[in-house]
Amino acid sequence: MIIYTHDDCLKKFNGNNHPERKERLESILSSIKSSNLKVEFKEAPLAELEIVSLVHPKKHIEQIFSYIPKEGIVGVENEPYADTMLCPDSKNAILRSCGAGIAAAKISWVKNERIFCAVRPPGHHAETIRANGFCFINNVAVAARYLQKQYEINKIAIIDFDVHHGNGTQEIFYKDQSVAYGSSHEFPLFPGTGAENETGVGNIFNATLKAGTSSKEFIAIFDQKVLKAIDKFKPEVILISAGFDAHKSDPLANIYLESDDFFKITKNIVDIANTHSNGRVISFLEGGYDLQALSESIIEHLNALKPHV
Ligand SMILES: [Zn+2]
Repeated sequence: MIIYTHDDCLKKFNGNNHPERKERLESILSSIKSSNLKVEFKEAPLAELEIVSLVHPKKHIEQIFSYIPKEGIVGVENEPYADTMLCPDSKNAILRSCGAGIAAAKISWVKNERIFCAVRPPGHHAETIRANGFCFINNVAVAARYLQKQYEINKIAIIDFDVHHGNGTQEIFYKDQSVAYGSSHEFPLFPGTGAENETGVGNIFNATLKAGTSSKEFIAIFDQKVLKAIDKFKPEVILISAGFDAHKSDPLANIYLESDDFFKITKNIVDIANTHSNGRVISFLEGGYDLQALSESIIEHLNALKPHV
């Protein structure tokens, strides 16, 4: 199995005590390296602005880059959510995170592979012209648009099990029947979107979870409200916004998944991909802020993604 990552993704610094920190990616990578998973690490290329502009106007991205400070850190949002930060090394981290998905899209489509993008910053909160929630470019959305443009793919599904709603992904595809977006998320919680009556053009499937939701309840709701809809949609490729912050140990949310639940959830997604999508799945790291939970959950996720021969 291929994993795209890059050292540049470790250089993004959001300030002391910020939950989105390089140690997240370090613990994921060291956990993979010390596991018995057979993986091939590839260097994520820098995304070309031409391809990023399939989702975000070039001007908007250039404006974000223009805020990058020579030293220290600056926020791109106003209070109370002034936690989407830029540091001097941000540009390449942002472009590598997006480039990983573009490179993965090519290989996955041509070779029917399943690929994981171990990158940061994450992407699912980034809207067309608004960076927020630690996200600047919507990595999963750019990969989807790239696949559609390059390979004339009609139907792509994005499944998002991060504990936060992917407001950016929903906004980008809200009126687009060619992309189905299914998300499970604690509600109410940041970013505040993702009510179940937000259905787009029949392509948006939001499953809201009450604080305190258990493993068992999560699996049932996810199956009923997300997976059934995606199965019916019959996608040609499945992209995953893989956030691990619905774990019981996560400091930013209140859902009680165990590490091995991420095996079950991923396996159920892979089953749909095997039925409709030639097994193609590309997974993108989104959230997950407890290092121990992250390093365990990622192995469960990859064990379910790996090819079974
Ligand atoms: Zn999250």
